[in-house]
Amino acid sequence: MEGSNIFSPSLAFTLVFALALCAQLLLKFWLATRQMRHVAGHRAQVPPPFAGHIPLAAHQKAADYTLAKGRVGLLEIALGAAVVLGWTLLGGLDALNQALLALVDERGGGGLLQQLALLAAFALINGLIDLPLTLYQTFVIEQRFGFNRMTLRLWLADLLKSTLVGALFGLPLAAAVLWLMGAAGTLWWLWAWALWMGFNLLLMVLYPTVIAPLFNKFTPLADEALRQRITALLARCGFAAKGLFVMDGSRRSAHANAYFTGLGAAKRVVFFDTLLQRLTPDEIEAVLAHELGHFKHHHIGKRMAALFAMSLAGFVLLGWLATQPWFYTGLGVRPNFMLAPGSQVPNDALALLLFALVVPVFGYFFAPLWAGLSRRHEFEADAYAAAQASGAALASALLKLHEDNASTLTPDPLYVRFYYSHPPALERLARLPAPAANL
Ligand SMILES: [Zn+2]
Repeated sequence: MEGSNIFSPSLAFTLVFALALCAQLLLKFWLATRQMRHVAGHRAQVPPPFAGHIPLAAHQKAADYTLAKGRVGLLEIALGAAVVLGWTLLGGLDALNQALLALVDERGGGGLLQQLALLAAFALINGLIDLPLTLYQTFVIEQRFGFNRMTLRLWLADLLKSTLVGALFGLPLAAAVLWLMGAAGTLWWLWAWALWMGFNLLLMVLYPTVIAPLFNKFTPLADEALRQRITALLARCGFAAKGLFVMDGSRRSAHANAYFTGLGAAKRVVFFDTLLQRLTPDEIEAVLAHELGHFKHHHIGKRMAALFAMSLAGFVLLGWLATQPWFYTGLGVRPNFMLAPGSQVPNDALALLLFALVVPVFGYFFAPLWAGLSRRHEFEADAYAAAQASGAALASALLKLHEDNASTLTPDPLYVRFYYSHPPALERLARLPAPAANL
């Protein structure tokens, strides 16, 4: 139909998409290799501000770890682009869709079942493609640097559980969205957006209480002195939490963390056992005060509002794109309404998948905006922690966590601008009192 005309919207869209994919690939490679060169170039010496705080061996371990992850990262970048290309312009999604249509045709019926099968098959295939690299990251790289605590058995059990949980939540959600797309008229995207928002809120309630306990053990914080200290900090900051928990993060990894989870008054404070083992009570209090700073400055609410607004824009866009033939043909897919005019076989699953494949390609270029906002929030939370707890304790906690996690102290500045959600240690410490005083 349209393919022969050189100015067809379909061809134009193919070109725009291919250009964006190439630009994204080149930019990702360029940034990743810059970061690796920068880290390798600063490997020989602990940067002067940190001399005396970080041993040379730890600095070099961080460099080696960053480089090892970077090399796999290059492979990941190439694989990611190949997978997107394979699904779209090389015809992977079209072939999968046609195969499932043929299968359904033989048995009669179709519609929702075929579409759900398409979504599930797509997710499974993508999961299988990602599997080797994930295994390599955990059992080769994390292992080599002493971070991995997982056995293959635990890894397999996790995979099985997360697949089941994903299917349990994902399939009904997908079925509901597909149903809305077919039955809710031209404003389906508004309903689908409302459903998506509701689902996200539900997850925020269910995650800490139902999902996370499937993977980890959560025990109430037993250390009475620390408990009182933290309770006092929460009270001082006017913060309502439902409980303080310790998570057995050490079962899987030596990396340490602390976080808040849940909604409203049902919020929980969760400490990784690895964090409690490594930090002093002063430092733990400071780390928690930093997290409280995010709440006090309404960062969480702002981020959620931004996500709500962006997903609304996404659904508006999807609602329009799903009706445009060039959106499908331009991405290498023959929509059902073009193959069999007048047929009742819907294209909704195709539209969802193409959208999910294409949005990250274009959205990638906006990553620096998001990262920049996040870094500003981190500074605000640090300042709050310095006021409510101790800036010096936060600084020493940051140094310990950097060393323990083998995070590089010498990232490439441009790489930081593009990707880092947290400012580099040097910038954070420079804004805190001692031990940054001598930095
Ligand atoms: Zn933070």
